[in-house]
Amino acid sequence: MRTVVVGGGVIGLATAWRAAREGVSVTVIDPAPGSKASHASAGLLPAINDQLYDQPELLRLCLASRELYPSFVEELEEFAPAGFRRDGVLDAAFDEESLPILDRQLAFQKSIGVRTERLTAEECAKLQPAFAPVVGGLLSPDDGAIDPRVLDAALITAIEALGGSVVRRGATRIEDHTVVLDTGDKVPFDRLVLAAGCWTHQIEGLPAGAIPEIRPVKGQILRLRSDVPLLNVTARAISKGKSLYLAPRLDGELVVGATYEERGYDETVTAEGTGSLLRRAAEVIPEVGALRFAEITAGLRPASPDDLPVMGPTTVPDVYLASGHFRMGVQLAPVTAVAMAAYLTDTVPHAATVPFTPLRFS
Ligand code: FAD
Repeated sequence: MRTVVVGGGVIGLATAWRAAREGVSVTVIDPAPGSKASHASAGLLPAINDQLYDQPELLRLCLASRELYPSFVEELEEFAPAGFRRDGVLDAAFDEESLPILDRQLAFQKSIGVRTERLTAEECAKLQPAFAPVVGGLLSPDDGAIDPRVLDAALITAIEALGGSVVRRGATRIEDHTVVLDTGDKVPFDRLVLAAGCWTHQIEGLPAGAIPEIRPVKGQILRLRSDVPLLNVTARAISKGKSLYLAPRLDGELVVGATYEERGYDETVTAEGTGSLLRRAAEVIPEVGALRFAEITAGLRPASPDDLPVMGPTTVPDVYLASGHFRMGVQLAPVTAVAMAAYLTDTVPHAATVPFTPLRFS
């Protein structure tokens, strides 16, 4: 079975790797793998976020991926380091009005069996001394983050080590079980996975409506640097009811994110985006201004018509879809990859992924 995956972001690469691991012959087509939303992403892996309180199926999907993460990384690290850390996520409230957010999260995480500890202001200060004074916090010790750039590089190494290939060209259309490249060359397939993020529905040649429109939601994100990491653990800083995430890497990079902007396919970075992230970071980390400026990046989160991920077979025979992971693509990569590999090998997909097939839009 020749399987072609169009799109080499974290979703396409993870899918290709898991399929290759199951013995499928895979080719990934992407002009610049790992360069779009996955490149921008902070790679935060918290147990929950506010979208999950009233979405039980999405919660089940996230918990399934959270459970798969350690073994997914362990198997991938047979090929290359994956940049995973699972040493806790701290949610810190910087004002009294944000405390109810922590209370709700604590009760919810406990109700679903996620280990969570309530921290006093002093305990937070001890854990994260670089923070401005906080009023309270929550530590989820079994959660963490992954560096998506390291992850994507490891996935490419693993795909190639298993005999798969990565073709650095764009796909323009689908024609008679072939993918037509921007060079005019054709790559034949038995099965096709479309995983081109918010560009997925732009690939031509499929019947109208077969692929739902995937909307771009822009996010600007800041990377700062110091010789020694300024923060000890991954954190979400909550002030005035709003959350800012802070992902420290072991090499001294600090990722600060992110904006949410509905601006179509605009990938420009702006002074306003940079300024607002820096201002908010300075409110919670007084010394942030002393860090070296490394990068401001804009990425386009792929959002489906119902803002939920889409994975599985389409109405077109042999054509599968994996996209629409919106703000959780890195978090959902393991469960998506396992489900897609099951579809591609005619085995039973993970039960948590079944509600997310593209057929819900037909
Ligand atoms: P992408 O990463 O966008 O990849 C799509 C790929 O398709 C690209 O490589 C592109 O080159 C390729 N492509 C496009 N057109 C074609 C074509 N015609 N032919 C071939 N290839 C094509 N998620 C988390 O889980 N945790 C986070 O902390 C987090 N933080 C984020 C912060 C920001 C600022 C942003 C923007 C996103 C964040 N996300 C986070 C969301 C996450 O990054 C996305 O959900 C995820 O990257 C989507 O992966 P993807 O592979 O579907 O899309």
